[in-house]
Amino acid sequence: MSATDDYTELFSRVMMRSAPAPLAVMARGRGARVWDVEGKEYLDFLAGIAVNALGHAHPAFVEAVSAQAATLAHVSNYFATAPQLELAERLTRLTGGDRVFLGNSGAEAIEAAVKLARLTGRPRILTLENSFHGRTIGSLSLTGKPALRAPFEPLLPGVAHIPSTLEALERELAAGDVAALVIEPIKGEAGVVDLPTGYLAAARELTTAHGALLILDEIQTGAGRTGDWFAFQHEGALPPGTLPDAVALAKGIGGGFPIGALVTFGAASTLFGPGHHGSTFGGNPLAAATANAVLGEIESADLVANARTRGAELRARIELIGSPLVTDIQGRGLLLGIGLSQPVAGIVASRALDRGLIINAANESRIRLAPPLIIGDDELHEFTRLFAEAIDIPHTDPGDHA
Ligand SMILES: *Cc1c(COP(=O)(O)O)cnc(C)c1O
Repeated sequence: MSATDDYTELFSRVMMRSAPAPLAVMARGRGARVWDVEGKEYLDFLAGIAVNALGHAHPAFVEAVSAQAATLAHVSNYFATAPQLELAERLTRLTGGDRVFLGNSGAEAIEAAVKLARLTGRPRILTLENSFHGRTIGSLSLTGKPALRAPFEPLLPGVAHIPSTLEALERELAAGDVAALVIEPIKGEAGVVDLPTGYLAAARELTTAHGALLILDEIQTGAGRTGDWFAFQHEGALPPGTLPDAVALAKGIGGGFPIGALVTFGAASTLFGPGHHGSTFGGNPLAAATANAVLGEIESADLVANARTRGAELRARIELIGSPLVTDIQGRGLLLGIGLSQPVAGIVASRALDRGLIINAANESRIRLAPPLIIGDDELHEFTRLFAEAIDIPHTDPGDHA
């Protein structure tokens, strides 16, 4: 028995059956590379699903966790700490928002957004079909994937999952009582799917006209990943001079340390009052100091610009491979989704894994790429070589893999 076989057997015996069998058992990482328990090396173009912004074991991350753990890790929210306040201020500066609630995950950031919506006094929340907002009951209620919701119904009342069209949005807003529209600027779990051009800007105008909140789920798109700090900040994404009412953050802002945040803007910052919300771990100095270091490194090394330029190169390289399987490339910066003309994403991802490249089959016909923001020429070259091999599937006549 190999070490992998032993761990895989243990996994199947003791882990809750909610999780699928692991693709490999990982032991350590450095930069854009990870090694499994057999010592096999992988180039990591998933980065913990857009989490490891600085890659693995980055000195800024390691130093922040170590120093803060040796100083003060947790005190409860009866007390404030400098790292917590510094992080909240940093997030308001980077987003243009006014107030911050700190939690521990993406789902918790969305839960805070759901409670914010409830405080408007209106009962309805709109989200998009095929969206993903998390797995807790509140965030699952917003998630636009019926198969994920079905086993857990009844979920929150008053949530409508609507098509990603302006007609559908106008119709639902006109029906009245809408507290908030909650949307991902790019649908990550759907396999990195763009919103229709102009949707976000029109959604801002329509929600304002109907007195509803526009809440953006930037849990996957935030922290520089798409080549701006946040996807709503791209030129033309929102009408000039406008902002969202709230933005949910997690994943990349902690660079691998669990953290989530809800940032509110303008009048939406007055909705929560004392005693309305809280979290034992939320805003603890260990997580906050780490997020400060991660965001500080993204700023000082200008990894936002790197995500933009490397993302454009990555897209061009995929196009150059010229695979007849590729139908489209969506997303932005270093969050890219590759559409396939056949349902072979799982085959492509496992051929990549065999060759030492981690990519993600988000569903049967879309590959998701989310490498760390630190990648350079070496990683792009190696990715191109390995991906070209992985996608060169023998005999992919229509129907072969259907
Ligand atoms: C990952 C993700 C979530 C949920 O975050 P968790 O930390 O897994 O709870 C919510 N929304 C989006 C867009 C995500 O990518």
